[in-house]
Amino acid sequence: MEDQKKNKSIKCDVSQCRHNLVSENYCSLDCISVGTHEDNPTVPECTDCNSFVVRSGCCE
Ligand code: SF4
Repeated sequence: MEDQKKNKSIKCDVSQCRHNLVSENYCSLDCISVGTHEDNPTVPECTDCNSFVVRSGCCE
């Protein structure tokens, strides 16, 4: 069983991610990688968490 610890520095409500502590809306990783899919990002929606991994059994 995965031992997940809340990283108080990374709030996240993406419950479909296996790194998310769904009950508390925090990430459990020590560090994440954030990127963009745009040439010229201007709003938060232009950015992505590249550490996202889909939770098994989710979204099928
Ligand atoms: S890896 Fe990214 S998407 Fe997944 S819980 Fe952490 S911050 Fe959220």
